[in-house]
Amino acid sequence: MEGKVISYSTFASLLEKVGRFDVTGKTLLLPEMSRASECLLAATFRSFGVNAQMMETYKGLKLGKEFTSGKECFPCQVTLGDILYHLQKEKERLGDAFDASNYVYFLPEADGPCRFGMYNKLQRIVLDSFPEFQQIPIAYLSTKDGYAIGGLLPSEKAKHFRRTAYVAMVAGDVWDRTLWRVRPYENRKGAMDQLYDEGLEVLSKVIEKHGHKKDFRKIRKTLRELVHEARSLIDPHIPRKPRIGIVGEIYLRCHTKANQEIIRLIEKYGGEVVNASMSEWINYIAYDTALKVRNKWKMALRLGRWAEFSRNFKSWLKHWIEYYYQLWRQGQVYRAARSEMDIAPDHAIGPLEDKLGPRKLFCFDVGTEAALSIAGALAYAEHGFNGVVNVFPFTCMPSTATSAVLKPLLQKLRIPYIDSAYDGTYQPNRDAIVRTFMYQAYQHQQKQKENGSTSHYHFGKKWYLSEWLIQ
Ligand code: SF4
Repeated sequence: MEGKVISYSTFASLLEKVGRFDVTGKTLLLPEMSRASECLLAATFRSFGVNAQMMETYKGLKLGKEFTSGKECFPCQVTLGDILYHLQKEKERLGDAFDASNYVYFLPEADGPCRFGMYNKLQRIVLDSFPEFQQIPIAYLSTKDGYAIGGLLPSEKAKHFRRTAYVAMVAGDVWDRTLWRVRPYENRKGAMDQLYDEGLEVLSKVIEKHGHKKDFRKIRKTLRELVHEARSLIDPHIPRKPRIGIVGEIYLRCHTKANQEIIRLIEKYGGEVVNASMSEWINYIAYDTALKVRNKWKMALRLGRWAEFSRNFKSWLKHWIEYYYQLWRQGQVYRAARSEMDIAPDHAIGPLEDKLGPRKLFCFDVGTEAALSIAGALAYAEHGFNGVVNVFPFTCMPSTATSAVLKPLLQKLRIPYIDSAYDGTYQPNRDAIVRTFMYQAYQHQQKQKENGSTSHYHFGKKWYLSEWLIQ
């Protein structure tokens, strides 16, 4: 594949072709991060009349590396490779009928101190270097406004879409947790993987058919039936294995190919895994947006700026309502699944923030995933997990901060911990590291048994509305 040399005039397209475009009637191309969540998000878009497709992933990594300098974050290279590979294949498939104006590429972004906000700009420049792909706009959602969907869909659909997409994402999380709960104990090798694929298809169809009607009951009912079926795959004679919690950068810990199947590797060496969920991040963004607006109205109140105070106060209320609405919906989906099987419940964000407080380890005001990862690892520790793995792209800024805080802390708490960084290369000692880590986790579990403290979920002494809602 050959791109042409980029001129500075190309930068004008960052304003014109990266933004919020009405995607109705277009083919919306989604890069894969968490397979379940993206697959169900694509189904939600289709339910609202947008022809959304999840692109094949990781096949274009060579292209992604070819058109970057090597200094970019690894997820940027993977997603760039995915879009270039997909478009190249589309061109070959359609020949002269290929029309770039039929496509929109979907790539969310984040504001804040790290580079995720720059992926779509860089990828715009690369797409512009191919004359045949210049017409493909990049549509994004941003953490800046809590992933508001406005602009991508007509306003009458936008609110419903956002809520349905959230429920679909939670359903994806729950289905993932079912996979991780059953696979280490399955009575027939490969049975859960097979059911997982079939289940995703069933859920996609249900969401596509009923999502636009906000018929969440049907989604919950389908999920519950699937979890019921998954339960029958567990061999009850296999004793409970050491439980490992994963934290880290969201793309790498969810993208199984980019993290070289870290969960399967842990399972291979005798562990059961719980990965931090996609909805934890979405809830965190909603929570964080509300906190930022709260700071604004407090400041306006102090300065006596009444109009500003009133505007921000209303906005703050709106954000809190949305946050609690999400938790309520999330709780409904988890309860439906947990009535069939003891999958791990999710962390609520308020209690996570409080975990950082007394030890002054980190602060939600700093933002980034480090806040969630550090607090999430402490929550795993409290819930009796036997080890923690921090999964992230090589040189990732928030995850390096996470590692700096967690390593000494978890050592003090005597909880096995490892970092697992990725950049697309294969490290020969990775197996040995995970195997040794799992041996430590096994010893941790034995100690727990000797002390009579088995692993279980308990929710602190303090009463939290958010914890109550999601249980
Ligand atoms: S979170 Fe890490 S991988 Fe993602 S943009 Fe920031 S530094 Fe890069």
